[in-house]
Amino acid sequence: MSSSQVKEHFDLISIGSGSAGRKVAVGLKRAGWKTAIIEADVDHHFGGTCINTGCIPTKAIVEMAHKSGKFKDSLELKDKIVERIRSGTLRHVEERVGTTVIKGFAKFVDSHTLDVQGELYSADYIVIATGSEPAIPPIKGLKDVNYKTSKDTLDIQNLPQHMLIIGGGRIGLEIGQAFTHLGVKVTVFEGLPHLLPGEDEEIADAIKETLEKEGMTIFTGKFVDEVREFRENGRSEFTVILEDGPNKGEYKGDYLLVATGRVPRTAELNLGKAGVETDRRRVVVNKFMQTSQPHIFAVGDVVGNPMFTNWAAWQAGVVLKNLKRSKIKNDSWEPLRTPNIPRLTFTRPELASTGLTEKEAKEKFGEENVVVVKFYNKWLGKSMIVGDWTGFLKGIGRKGSNEILGAHLWGERTGSLIQLIILAMDNGLGWKELADMVYGHPVLVEGIESLSKMMVGALQLDE
Ligand SMILES: Cc1cc2nc3c(=O)[nH]c(=O)nc-3n(C[C@H](O)[C@H](O)[C@H](O)COP(=O)(O)OP(=O)(O)OC[C@H]3O[C@@H](n4cnc5c(N)ncnc54)[C@H](O)[C@@H]3O)c2cc1C
Repeated sequence: MSSSQVKEHFDLISIGSGSAGRKVAVGLKRAGWKTAIIEADVDHHFGGTCINTGCIPTKAIVEMAHKSGKFKDSLELKDKIVERIRSGTLRHVEERVGTTVIKGFAKFVDSHTLDVQGELYSADYIVIATGSEPAIPPIKGLKDVNYKTSKDTLDIQNLPQHMLIIGGGRIGLEIGQAFTHLGVKVTVFEGLPHLLPGEDEEIADAIKETLEKEGMTIFTGKFVDEVREFRENGRSEFTVILEDGPNKGEYKGDYLLVATGRVPRTAELNLGKAGVETDRRRVVVNKFMQTSQPHIFAVGDVVGNPMFTNWAAWQAGVVLKNLKRSKIKNDSWEPLRTPNIPRLTFTRPELASTGLTEKEAKEKFGEENVVVVKFYNKWLGKSMIVGDWTGFLKGIGRKGSNEILGAHLWGERTGSLIQLIILAMDNGLGWKELADMVYGHPVLVEGIESLSKMMVGALQLDE
């Protein structure tokens, strides 16, 4: 590529303005580098999925749906918060920090050059942070119907009567429960035997029971066989078909949401032209987040699971720290550390978990060596005060050891409480240390105090 064809050259370009790409470009700009962020949709998606169509808008709708039960209130809160964070983030990046923001979809021309709608930009270093997109399963008929994704669902202006949701993972359940609270009939289809794949099965089953009591219909253990749409007078009727099994039947609704996970967004990047290797759409990286081209990094959802916003930023932090230390990889570079990651599901109440599930722990260490303790929120004064004592906290330990193997906190606002467990796990502390401190009272975190004390007793650590 001749340099005369290139509109501008940068020290570093991030493709994508989400928590991953932004962190590197902003951090290095502050360190004196000339950096740019290319974002396909600056007007509606600056700041990435979390701010615009992910964490923030879903949680705003979930919060308000539970609080007021009014769709209008949910939309207002969501729009207000998203606009505020998006515009504030753009102002911060462009005006305060001075990172260049380039609007448009980037494609590689070669390993140092990107084409953005006909204009070429080059950089010494490039960060691929293009995030992920909904995974659409190969269900018969699905590609021919007007199904919706989580992104579409956050923008609807009129409530449907009956929402059919394919996928009982965290996105499907958060949206499903919120719309149930807004008065919509909701039916969820999950192919695996338990909701929330990857989470503790006992808790997933207990959450299912709670959601069903609230009015949701949930089918597990059978993948959807076929989907159809019948359109008349501008209205659609969808049919989801389960061909066999105990719930065999045809289920009809006027809205079809597909929430069956997400896949890295790499399809249109022309990665081949840059010589960047992929593995089933995911960009392959080493422990320094370098791709097969050492000057091209990839961070965030685009490198695969787990897909969480703070994990994306954590990976970006590795690239930022290393490039600040040395432009060329040397001994000062630190590899990605894999600490314990909080997994949060914002149903009401929340599920916050980390480490091994009961099943995983038993498979790994043998059933007889694993100790499981449950503390019910109804035993806690503060739960009664806040008015929701649904759920329980589950601790998982190993006989003869103080180690925390896993914690699964299902209850009001547990998303914040899990950090205490993570602090302990990341720093080699165990149940004993969690139990051995003075907690304030009355507060929800006392649930962790009680759980830890029960674990200390069950593991006979106090003898
Ligand atoms: C409904 C939903 C709810 C979620 N809730 C949570 C939650 O509660 N907690 C949590 O931790 N995570 C949550 N997530 C996941 C979280 O949003 C992602 O893990 C996070 O946004 C990943 O950050 P990223 O920087 O890798 O990518 P993204 O934030 O997706 O940013 C990528 C950006 O790149 C842009 N882009 C893509 N291709 C190009 C291109 N070729 N050229 C230019 N720009 C491009 C996109 O427009 C996008 O803005 C949720 C996701 C969804 C969908």
